[in-house]
Amino acid sequence: MAKKMRKVAIYGKGGIGKSTTTQNTVAGLVELGRKVMVVGCDPKADSTRLLLGGLAQKSVLDTLREEGEDVELEDIRKAGYGGTWCVESGGPEPGVGCAGRGIITSINMLESLGAYEEVCGGFAMPIRDGKAEEIYIVVSGEMMAMYAANNISKGIMKFAQSGNVRLGGLICNSRAVDNEKEMIEEFAKKLGTQMIYFVPRDNDVQRAEINRKTVIEWKPEVPQADAYRGLAKAIDENEIFVIPTPLEIEELEELLMAYGLMEAA
Ligand code: ADP
Ligand code: MG
Repeated sequence: MAKKMRKVAIYGKGGIGKSTTTQNTVAGLVELGRKVMVVGCDPKADSTRLLLGGLAQKSVLDTLREEGEDVELEDIRKAGYGGTWCVESGGPEPGVGCAGRGIITSINMLESLGAYEEVCGGFAMPIRDGKAEEIYIVVSGEMMAMYAANNISKGIMKFAQSGNVRLGGLICNSRAVDNEKEMIEEFAKKLGTQMIYFVPRDNDVQRAEINRKTVIEWKPEVPQADAYRGLAKAIDENEIFVIPTPLEIEELEELLMAYGLMEAA
């Protein structure tokens, strides 16, 4: 029997590790036998390069611009590591136009070309338009990352009222901040969700990246590869999906103070 396709989206502050964590986790999902399509939606178009071994992927918007409406699936979708499908939406440079448009256009295009028929898992993007159903937020113990996660939760809460988008958990991508794991666990609890996994900070991530590979492909035996396998398994088996309860700023600051990251005023 065909399994239901899951539409997963990864959010978080810029530079927090969304692209890295996503691709490394997808490699873990591949080992679990999952068929995954990754749809990158950053104008940088760097969301699939580790899965593609560094090959340049022309974005959907650039392809549309150059070839008009008559686009075929193979023009916008490349085969990557372990049978994954890789798509980059592309989009305007930051600050120009609406970056959200690129991903909607891309997903509509993929749908009309039948790209979803053979996949049972996809890392896609936006909350609106029902394109994503399951959201994970990448966060660390750094204050700005937590502010961003709280704001994203506000967005999810807003769209969850009218649709079926839910928060599946926080992924702590460690910055080796003091008390980080405990603080993010507490933060997740206050948001009504879970810290689904704690990903250690490890320079093997950079070493694999220089080789244009995920850690699992580069050196399957190193500890960081197991971390991503653990995260893949946790997402694969996750059954906790909630409408989040964002914190008031004061509550967030109290949390940071309680864990020793912020001085009392
Ligand atoms: P985003 O997609 O959220 O903007 P990236 O995935 O590009 O962020 O991550 C930024 C950088 O952080 C990457 O180049 C990567 O080398 C580094 N990085 C991410 N996660 C880890 C980790 N767990 N350990 C070490 N370095 C990491
Ligand atoms: Mg990115």
